[in-house]
Amino acid sequence: MEYFPIFLDLRDQPVLIVGGGALAARRCAAVTEAGGQVRVVAEVLSEAFEDCRDFEHLARDFAPDDLGGARLVFVASDDEALNERVSSLARERGIPVNVADRRSLCSFIMPSIVNRSPVVVAVSSGGEAPILSRLLRAKLETRIPSRFGQLAAFTGSWRQRIKQAIPDAARRGRFWERVTDGPVGEYVLAGQTDDARRLLEKILAAERGVAAEPNLGEVYLVGAGPGDPDLLTFRALRLMQQADVVLHDRLVPDAILDLVRRDAERVFVGKRRGEHALAQEAISQLLVDLARQGKRVLRLKGGDPFTFGRGGEEIETLASHGIPFQVVPGITAANGCAAYAGIPLTHRDHAQSCVFVTGHTKDGKLDLNWQTLVQPNQTVVVYMGLAAAGEIIAQLMSHGAAPSTPAAVIDNGTRDNQQIVDGTLGDLADKVECANLEGPAILIVGGVVTLRDKLSWFASNHAGGSLTHATE
Ligand code: SAH
Repeated sequence: MEYFPIFLDLRDQPVLIVGGGALAARRCAAVTEAGGQVRVVAEVLSEAFEDCRDFEHLARDFAPDDLGGARLVFVASDDEALNERVSSLARERGIPVNVADRRSLCSFIMPSIVNRSPVVVAVSSGGEAPILSRLLRAKLETRIPSRFGQLAAFTGSWRQRIKQAIPDAARRGRFWERVTDGPVGEYVLAGQTDDARRLLEKILAAERGVAAEPNLGEVYLVGAGPGDPDLLTFRALRLMQQADVVLHDRLVPDAILDLVRRDAERVFVGKRRGEHALAQEAISQLLVDLARQGKRVLRLKGGDPFTFGRGGEEIETLASHGIPFQVVPGITAANGCAAYAGIPLTHRDHAQSCVFVTGHTKDGKLDLNWQTLVQPNQTVVVYMGLAAAGEIIAQLMSHGAAPSTPAAVIDNGTRDNQQIVDGTLGDLADKVECANLEGPAILIVGGVVTLRDKLSWFASNHAGGSLTHATE
């Protein structure tokens, strides 16, 4: 090990920074955040210092006496001679010194930091490959929940009480593991601290044998996005890796299911046009039953659970049964498909509003307010509209939309097999018919569709790719 890692208590300790540039400002901010008393020696300070608070500025050249009393020294200047001079003076006096970008002049180096205070992760490549430590840091940032620090603080606030209640260290360790890696931890990470506290009280009472074991079951209603696994949220991924059982339907592709915890039980609850593996009420009831068995249940939905996802109905049932739940939004198909097709949903020249409607038919009939859908300067996105595409297009035209209105169907948007058929209301129905699309697919209508010619960027692996030109 080339460098020895430690965490230093800098509270109220004098720290000297030589230099007034952007890097010096970053050091100043970091040290003051850790409670250090910063003194900056630099003739002028750059604008970057405007965000720094509570430091002393000496607007002059460095003098050796500035080192007096300093516990740490940072040097960040362009003046090579100054860098060397401060470094050797500091070393002579035994003060740890760091010179930016000059490893040979440093007695300590700065790690990359993931800050979830009080939890701090420091990464270093020993100065060999700072880019690698930054990469690693970025990976850790995505894996450590943003409220991890709150979880640490929460745990800290209970430590004494739990220590008294469970004197046996091994048992206490197991208890903490169960609590922080379970629903209590999850409550804190979701910002529900009061619920966390209540549940911890109950678990503790059960542990001490004065109450029955509480039911730890809960439901996560999670949006999985339109298909590209990279479009999952951090929280979605974390809950996917925690759940005991997963209920999913056909909109969630294997590439995403593969990210669910290996030993989690999977239940396919179906849903494709017309064909239902389980009726909606049965799904809602199953969520309640599984949670009552104490399981952490993940209800994984395509896109966003609250956008044509019937997520509202599912959690209404949970709420009425008093089952704890949380909802994680996902990227809805309209947003995902629009982005991956190069079609902005709004644009100053083409559309000042955008409406999402469903083309799902009830008893074979479309029940839409056509007048509102044929307004100028508006983008219309139709979900579940593939089967009825021909009729939807005909209705739009019979309610006044010009046959020249640009329109596109995006099939399997954001996925490797994405396919786009575009044209106008006048010719799209035939093109879609020829393309034999499998779905899921959305229909986008409006002037914004023409922007695709300039803005399209995503190249899918589908043999046809975009069928615009193939069918023209
Ligand atoms: N909750 C989902 C929508 C569920 S309704 C969401 O927010 O996206 C199902 C409809 O969504 C499908 O019929 C289709 O119109 C649309 N859809 C979902 N994923 C899609 C995808 N990858 N590409 C195109 N359309 C998609």
